[in-house]
Amino acid sequence: MSRCVLTTWARDKDGYGARMTHRNGKNVSQRAHRVAWEEAYGPIPEGMCVLHRCDNPPCVNVDHLFLGTHQDNVRDMDAKGRRSRGARHAAATRQGRWG
Ligand SMILES: [Zn+2]
Repeated sequence: MSRCVLTTWARDKDGYGARMTHRNGKNVSQRAHRVAWEEAYGPIPEGMCVLHRCDNPPCVNVDHLFLGTHQDNVRDMDAKGRRSRGARHAAATRQGRWG
């Protein structure tokens, strides 16, 4: 696998590159790995997550990114042993559509 390319954006609490931007007159937060994926492949289908093969949240190397569902994301985290405890986090993630 090629090397990770780390975002130059500020990191959010989860370590993802994140910034605020305006869309339709609203402030929305963007995550760097999602923007990188969209620049490479086009819009992310509704409800899909952009996941890291390299398990490195600030990485924006599109070779390391793949689309999955929220369920895939949870399964992936389970497999890697870093799932947050409790349903509250899962609900927040789903609501935010990012991850
Ligand atoms: Zn990477």
